[in-house]
Amino acid sequence: MTPAEARTTRTAVVIGGGIGGLASGVALARHGWDVTVVERATSLDPVGAGIVVAPNAVRSLDSLGVGDATRHLAALQGELGIRRPDGRWLLRGRADGTASLFGDRTLMLHRAQLVGLLADALPAGSLRLATSADVVDPGTTSRPARVRTPDGDLDADLVVAADGIGSATRTRWMPSAPAPVSGGSTAWRFVAPPVPGVVGSEIWGRGIIAGVMPLADGRVYAYVSVAAGVGVPRDLDELRALLADWHDPIPALLASVDDATALRHELRHLPAPPASLTTGRVALVGDAAHAMLPNLGQGGCQALEDGVVLGVRVRPDDDIAAALQRWSAERRPRVGQVMRMSARVAVPTLWTSRAATSARDAGMRAVGRWTEALGGRALRPVMAWRPPTG
Ligand SMILES: Cc1cc2nc3c(=O)[nH]c(=O)nc-3n(C[C@H](O)[C@H](O)[C@H](O)COP(=O)(O)OP(=O)(O)OC[C@H]3O[C@@H](n4cnc5c(N)ncnc54)[C@H](O)[C@@H]3O)c2cc1C
Repeated sequence: MTPAEARTTRTAVVIGGGIGGLASGVALARHGWDVTVVERATSLDPVGAGIVVAPNAVRSLDSLGVGDATRHLAALQGELGIRRPDGRWLLRGRADGTASLFGDRTLMLHRAQLVGLLADALPAGSLRLATSADVVDPGTTSRPARVRTPDGDLDADLVVAADGIGSATRTRWMPSAPAPVSGGSTAWRFVAPPVPGVVGSEIWGRGIIAGVMPLADGRVYAYVSVAAGVGVPRDLDELRALLADWHDPIPALLASVDDATALRHELRHLPAPPASLTTGRVALVGDAAHAMLPNLGQGGCQALEDGVVLGVRVRPDDDIAAALQRWSAERRPRVGQVMRMSARVAVPTLWTSRAATSARDAGMRAVGRWTEALGGRALRPVMAWRPPTG
């Protein structure tokens, strides 16, 4: 054991209080680490968006002790599939199909619910809001890492950089890592008041994708992405005009949105993860390591997996740098695969030509139903994943 590790309590500093940082903080605390999570924002309240939590992530939440609480909040129910803008189904299945295919149901939550559950599972007093932090020394096997905050420096046996797609930790300490690139579209997300007749679905148009997902309390999480090739609307009114002739209830949903709470982002991703997800005593998790396009709905799910595996594989009495190397070797191929799959699924959503989208739609219609043969086999490696135990 090195001098740094001879101290009795092992300290972990987590930079970022998003899904990746909170999951890592909870996982490490459950395995005996003294955890501090620093978040630069003044609150953790994410506004205006839902999140799909796939079976692999539901099981990660089990490992964090909040799986059942999350299951109680909402499972996708009823029909689910892909439709055309005129409402005709291209691909149709049942939401509970994921339970038989992948061993658990897919959950549909408001982000605030997920973030709230994770934050509540942290040890009392371990979260510091309104605190920006920088890694000033990533540490070595024999030297702790050092994190600078406005309140002073923190020495840490382990640092988790969960600082998002623009990660300053990645840029500074992994300068050869790929930088974010545009995914070729802009997305709006919002949570609308209850609207009758909402069936969980994605609607695929020419370069425009919309999604509508009922939340447990009757509200509706909706998103729209518009490919650069379509001409990105400047504001919500232009977006409303673009989808004015889409099937019910899309225009009504868009009409009901409060412009102040709708989120708008250009979709960006990392083309690949860094060569290693660790340097010294620093672990890079979540979007900082593997920001991916949202088309598989796996970015947050993979962040949850990262944290859970970190807790199991990097124990307070380990040689931390060596344990992190093993953790990275386990996680990197997994997240790389999910990033590539997400990018592949995104390609046909950007098509704008009538010929290409007609061929795409005909292919989906020919299949007709969401089956084991179609989606099950392709998605099994992603969604049937189970967390390591220990
Ligand atoms: C349109 C869209 C839809 C999506 N839908 C889904 C979905 O349905 N399911 C799913 O699983 N994923 C989805 N995702 C992906 C998911 O949102 C992200 O992968 C996930 O939120 C990443 O979490 P994170 O904690 O890694 O990063 P972030 O959420 O970006 O959190 C990083 C945090 O670090 C803080 N921070 C940054 N720098 C510092 C610093 N120096 N000091 C202190 N704090 C700092 C930031 O303030 C922020 O709170 C979607 C993404 C988009 C864009």
